Amino acid sequence: MIDLNPPYGGRLVDLVVPAAAAAELKDHAGRLPSIQLSERATCDLELLACGAFSPLDRFMGSRDLRRVLDEMRLASGAVFPIPITLPVAADAGFVVGGEVALRDSKNELLGVMEVEDAYPWDREELAQKVLGTLDPRHPLVAELGRWGPVNLSGRLRVLQLPAHVDFRDLRLTPVETRGRLWRAGRANVVAFQSRNPLHRIHEELTKRAAGMVDGTLLLHPSVGMTKPGDVDHYTRVRTYRALASHYYDPRRVVLALLPLAMRMAGPREALWHAIIRRNYGASHFVVGRDHASPGLDSAGKPFYGRYDAQQLVARFEPEIGVKVLSFAELVYLPAEERYEEVSKLPPNALTVALSGTRVRDEFLDRGRPLPAWFTRPEVAEILAETYPPRHRQGVCVWLTGLSGAGKSTTAEVLTVLLLEHGRQVTVLDGDVVRTHLSKGLGFSREDRDTNVRRIGFVAAEIVRHGGVAVCAAISPYRATRDEVRAMVGDDQFVEVFVDTPLDECERRDAKGLYAKARRGEIARWTGISDPYEAPEHAEVVLDTVSHTPEQNARRILALLAERGFLKLSAISRQLSVDGAAGDELSTASRPARADG
Ligand code: ADP
Ligand code: ADP
Repeated sequence: MIDLNPPYGGRLVDLVVPAAAAAELKDHAGRLPSIQLSERATCDLELLACGAFSPLDRFMGSRDLRRVLDEMRLASGAVFPIPITLPVAADAGFVVGGEVALRDSKNELLGVMEVEDAYPWDREELAQKVLGTLDPRHPLVAELGRWGPVNLSGRLRVLQLPAHVDFRDLRLTPVETRGRLWRAGRANVVAFQSRNPLHRIHEELTKRAAGMVDGTLLLHPSVGMTKPGDVDHYTRVRTYRALASHYYDPRRVVLALLPLAMRMAGPREALWHAIIRRNYGASHFVVGRDHASPGLDSAGKPFYGRYDAQQLVARFEPEIGVKVLSFAELVYLPAEERYEEVSKLPPNALTVALSGTRVRDEFLDRGRPLPAWFTRPEVAEILAETYPPRHRQGVCVWLTGLSGAGKSTTAEVLTVLLLEHGRQVTVLDGDVVRTHLSKGLGFSREDRDTNVRRIGFVAAEIVRHGGVAVCAAISPYRATRDEVRAMVGDDQFVEVFVDTPLDECERRDAKGLYAKARRGEIARWTGISDPYEAPEHAEVVLDTVSHTPEQNARRILALLAERGFLKLSAISRQLSVDGAAGDELSTASRPARADG
């Protein structure tokens, strides 16, 4: 028989009402005003409800928040460094003394709060005291601006924990986690937090940590909200699972997911992480370098010191009842084929390390396998599936210009060349789209924008799934094109200005439409009776008067190749002989002349 570390404050909070009372509460909630919770508040509610934040049993009232900000303590005196609040709009429909129903983003009922306290709070004060900065580069500072001005607090009754259908077997409450740890049979439990895929260095770190205290390892990654731009949790959890099942002794490891909404608060966050893990049964908590780091500030400097988190957790060790296992940065010594902390290196040792940026740019984007010293092959394979090499990533080529400029003609040639180079292509031609996707739309500014946005939406989906979307639409308004660029993602968007002068388009007038427009028989004809806003930052500007459609299409192809969207070996020879790529790729454009 073993005794695990008891919960922080002695017992686990449990806010979920017994099944017998659920129907009545649900019925009651249906008659109350509703508050829709943000993703963050939903994560917080889940962890309050299951006891992960014990002894805290509600969103903080003004007395708790005051002490947390100033002293990292709840009103009761217990150490608790991070505010857990429910900020809402002032007109959110609550009354103090009344109740509100709490719903998630899909309006699913989660629980009921008795509103005992509703109080204003100060964004700057919270940012300064908890995060130590007002710099909007800090992801939470950036987010705080959108939180409501009034915090609600009061007794909570939770109907159900938010439903997760993914990785069900790994979603363990504190009670369930304790059960697993208890069966593993060791009183010492070393918890490890992560928001990144786990590489060899993390494996080494966790094995050393568990070995040091002869404990069970609790691999406990955060899968609620992490830093914007992080690897998505689906991919991460697949890597954790692969690693845990292949490289750890199954009797000494428990993998469980923590639906935590991280604050990226560095040292304060590390202390909070340790308290949370105690509630899940941990006696020890690993803190390495840059724990819960928000990255660099506007001046390019780190927000927190590399090892500040270790010091803060160590200072509170006796009070929180969790021991910190501190590690200096771990690096690899290729000559000795082993890992070591930078503080313990032999003199003049040659070391290697890989940053996340280099992993993306130098390995995954180029389809190169991650080195074996860095990542286990099972993990590398999962990452390569999520981040295929550039030549298998999606891209959108967006041709804009006057009617008759040559967008469709160029798009047709480009499509053939892309197919030749093994890419899957979907052409979205403005005119064609108007016969189905946008049937019934006219040529008012609104209708034109709607048409362009619809094309943009479809293009973004194609790109997300690794295809090439070639779009040819007049798309006369700059702001709407920029919107589409944002929808697709700047990195995957190539704007091509087919810069054919109005008089040339009019001279070509294949369908006689310019003539009609001149006679006033067509209203709102772009270039004549409706504006065309030329791009200011197009990636490519084409001249269709002195270049053939094929030459122009090959210029676009050259840019795609340069950006890595085509396999280079095959194309480089060809481009050097046909001369089309000889023109400088222009990024500027001439001013619009066709605004008559
Ligand atoms: P976060 O700390 O934001 O959750 P990570 O998932 O990158 O981010 O880190 C998980 C834990 O591993 C943290 O305690 C961190 O300090 C530690 N860690 C990550 N990389 C290293 C490294 N190269 N050397 C030492 N510790 C590390
Ligand atoms: P858009 O799609 O921009 O409305 P189209 O491609 O449908 O324009 O029409 C352009 C017309 O101009 C076609 O009849 C095409 O044959 C002719 N044309 C002449 N020279 C060129 C060129 N260099 N590039 C593209 N089209 C050209």
